[in-house]
Amino acid sequence: MQKLARRWKRAGIKIGFVPTMGYLHDGHLSLVREARRRVGRQGRVVVSVYVNPTQFGPKEDLAKYPRDLKRDLQLCRAAGVDAVFTPSDAGMYPGRAEGRYSTYVVEEHLARVMEGAARPVHFRGVTTIVAKLFNLVLPEVAVFGQKDFQQATIIQRMVADLNFPVKIVVAPTHREPDGLAMSSRNKFLDAEQRAQAVILFHALQAAKAAVAKKAVPAARLKKDLQEFFTAAPLARLDYVEFFDPETLHAASPVKRGTHMALAVFFGKTRLIDNARL
Ligand code: AMP
Repeated sequence: MQKLARRWKRAGIKIGFVPTMGYLHDGHLSLVREARRRVGRQGRVVVSVYVNPTQFGPKEDLAKYPRDLKRDLQLCRAAGVDAVFTPSDAGMYPGRAEGRYSTYVVEEHLARVMEGAARPVHFRGVTTIVAKLFNLVLPEVAVFGQKDFQQATIIQRMVADLNFPVKIVVAPTHREPDGLAMSSRNKFLDAEQRAQAVILFHALQAAKAAVAKKAVPAARLKKDLQEFFTAAPLARLDYVEFFDPETLHAASPVKRGTHMALAVFFGKTRLIDNARL
């Protein structure tokens, strides 16, 4: 991958990059279109498909994470992707099983809250794999989804702090017609859970409406949202947070422009969503 990228660079060709864990959906493909817009017809768009083991905790769904490389490759081909990078675990983390892999990239502040608090090793795995992928793909531009808002914020911080020569673009969350954010994990929802999963989107909209005209104390809005979730009995709220979109510091009162993020379990399936209120 690096050899190919260096060849392109020597020829003055721009590289746009979309890192993914595969099982691609329209949300991923909207990032591919954005990457193409950024590098133009003369550029190259690279998608990586890699279920990165270091970003999963020991009790998480690494083994069960959905995979369908054949379909992913077809979708990438149809979307005009120039190269799909599909590394192996042994290639990315040589000697890890024997304890001979020992270098990680850690962001120390933004990664402590929300997803980082709920999933302790998650962001260390994300920053490490994204740094490695940047060194292999050598992109001018990399596109991430707002769907994983905290992740995008941490990647932007990593790129600034460590001087990666890459522009990070954050593209809007792609949604199903009813508002549910597209996610590879949605396939784990049964029909009843799927019908109730739209509550994440509705909760964001309800919070937006609640703060549209006046600021509301965070504790009160949280309580109201917990109440709101009783309408979806299959949902178990993991967290809902209100915060400053740049620092991720908790915000109260909550007002227009405050960011909201939430994580919700349906059975073992954990969904996340977020929006600027
Ligand atoms: P994943 O394969 O879930 O790791 O996601 C790969 C990239 O696609 C990340 O930058 C995600 O934020 C982004 N992504 C996932 N779902 C969506 C969506 N519904 N809309 C936009 N981007 C998304």
